[in-house]
Amino acid sequence: MNDDNKQKSYHTITYGCQMNENDTERLAGQLKALGYAETDRPDGADVILVNTCCVRESAEKKIHGKIGELKRLKASNPNLIIGVTGCMAQKDRDKLFKRAPHVDLVLGTHNLHQLGEIITDIGRSRGRVLAVWDQAERLAPGVPTIRKNKISAWLPIMYGCNNFCTYCIVPYVRGRERSRPLDEVVGEAADLASQGFRELTLLGQNVNSYGKDEQGHADFADLLAAVDRVEGIARIRYMTSHPRDMNTKVIDTIRRSRHICEHFHLPIQAGSDAVLRAMNRGYTAAVYRSLVAEIRDAIPGASLTTDIIVGFPGETDEMFADTLDLVEEIRFDAAYTFLYSQRSGTPAADLPGQIPLAVKKERLQRLMSLQNEASLAINRELVGTETEVLVEGESKNDANKMMGRTRTNKIVIWDRHGSERTGDLATVKIDAAQTWVLKGTLV
Ligand code: SF4
Repeated sequence: MNDDNKQKSYHTITYGCQMNENDTERLAGQLKALGYAETDRPDGADVILVNTCCVRESAEKKIHGKIGELKRLKASNPNLIIGVTGCMAQKDRDKLFKRAPHVDLVLGTHNLHQLGEIITDIGRSRGRVLAVWDQAERLAPGVPTIRKNKISAWLPIMYGCNNFCTYCIVPYVRGRERSRPLDEVVGEAADLASQGFRELTLLGQNVNSYGKDEQGHADFADLLAAVDRVEGIARIRYMTSHPRDMNTKVIDTIRRSRHICEHFHLPIQAGSDAVLRAMNRGYTAAVYRSLVAEIRDAIPGASLTTDIIVGFPGETDEMFADTLDLVEEIRFDAAYTFLYSQRSGTPAADLPGQIPLAVKKERLQRLMSLQNEASLAINRELVGTETEVLVEGESKNDANKMMGRTRTNKIVIWDRHGSERTGDLATVKIDAAQTWVLKGTLV
């Protein structure tokens, strides 16, 4: 086979959230449709895509480093096409295009569906392309998708965010909220079920405001109820929820559903009302507490996880103590904790009272050790119980062990029995608990 006949290949590098992972699947799908095959190494690939994130400064630095590294490959293969896509591409567009002349393509968050066409054009003309629309459009339905995971699929239900939390860059790089029509989402869910997927995660920056962008549109509870009726799907998850928009109708729909998991991920971000106000979160700690009480009352046994930002500008020791008090009182199953990262272009970046890094780190340590104690104590209460897991496959660290997740989104590891198959629902008896993992025996 001469070189021209060799199958072309692509390699993807993804940073950031699940939305980005799903975008990469849609980018990969377009390349596959052009006849490219995936390769897990950048060396020798014909197309390399870096799908970027700009939520934290540290992530951006890492991404710039990665883009710089690719220069070497371009030098040894001038026909290589290097593309930068996603949030950083949207935010830094021309700057990125000028700064990295070895990059052939900068593709914004609203232009992902154009990848196939643009790669074909670059292949013909060898020109460079900057494609970044300001205007948000719905992702064209029918964009082919390559899904790496064969059990769980991400299903975007909306794009963008209208909230403008003062620390967050997302509304500037992903545009205003646009909800996909309910029929389109349900149709895709049914299609995924027919392909054998067992678990769906409905994706959006703020899923609870699904449908609010259009009068007469179905709301999030309606969508959950409709997806719950799709035959063949064992579990439904969703992310991310905004506490301000979580309501009784959604909680009740989850309570009555067959497949929606009893796991609530509700980012609190801070326990102090002054900080919540400065973040423009739109709720108080008291509102959050009563929301948690409502959920626990309606769905006993539901798990609750959260996100917390430490060191927001102006956060005093007392304000941080409010966060610790709230964490102690609520007893989250897990908390994803972050140092506040100053993002230029966001209102919080210009606020007075930026907190020194050392203080932020010290607060983060205190918060994490408090949370880890709670996570471990909650997991220990599960020892001796039997729980349903969705078998996800072999454990990453040990081929003799299997891994799955509970409906409450806890990871469970057990000795391989041999009868369990990936995608099955199985019962595991919990024998031991760690902070992030449960260990058990297949029943
Ligand atoms: S809800 Fe707030 S934190 Fe979440 S994406 Fe929107 S602006 Fe950012």
